[in-house]
Amino acid sequence: GDVLGGGDEDVIVPGTASGFAPFEFINEDDELVGFDIDLAEETIDRAGYEVGDWTDTEFDSLIPSLTEGNIDFIAAGMTINEERQEAIAFSDPYYESDQAVLVAAGSDVDASAVEDLEGLIVGAQGGTTGLDEAEALVEEGILEEDDLRQYDNYPLAVEDLENGNVDAIIIDIPVAQNFASGRDVEVAFEIETGEVFGFGMRQDDDRLGDINDALGEIRDDGTYEDLIETWFE
Ligand code: GLN
Repeated sequence: GDVLGGGDEDVIVPGTASGFAPFEFINEDDELVGFDIDLAEETIDRAGYEVGDWTDTEFDSLIPSLTEGNIDFIAAGMTINEERQEAIAFSDPYYESDQAVLVAAGSDVDASAVEDLEGLIVGAQGGTTGLDEAEALVEEGILEEDDLRQYDNYPLAVEDLENGNVDAIIIDIPVAQNFASGRDVEVAFEIETGEVFGFGMRQDDDRLGDINDALGEIRDDGTYEDLIETWFE
């Protein structure tokens, strides 16, 4: 059939949004690395396709890039949800995560539940489920619409936390913990959302079946566990 992206049935062109360690980030040698990068490449390879050149863009542009055919595959810690499923298809889930609320280390923000965020300025990366959570808190009357901050990427949000320009950010737990281990920020509390991550592909891309078969194999033979140990422990 017609294949967009690389335009070649044999090649799957992956896209991500770095600055989301340990899932995808740029290391000291200026290379794109992380759990998603390794798992995506292993999955595409085992499914019998060639891995195309990675595109690294803003999280919010990944779905349009995929549907427009600039990339064939999203590996970006992307939560599977109904809204996104209207536009794209997802692989079987490959990771489970909840959200965390990150604050400046030693800040006077004393928050242990969402209600405690009342009156604060709260941010998240654009297009994320973290931002959806913040918007839900506006709906609930806990946050003011004007007090929401939307960032192009999470590293910019963390900088603003350190500078005191935002009081709290909502971000996936493993990434929150990663920032907390290297930056001047700490996890205040967690929000249980029960999200699962999947790889994204176009709805009409019939290579998705091979991708799911390969993911299953990678779990069954211990490769998945090895990658978890490499990137999370
Ligand atoms: N898991 C969250 C989402 O899907 C955040 C992903 C990200 O920021 N890379 O929106």
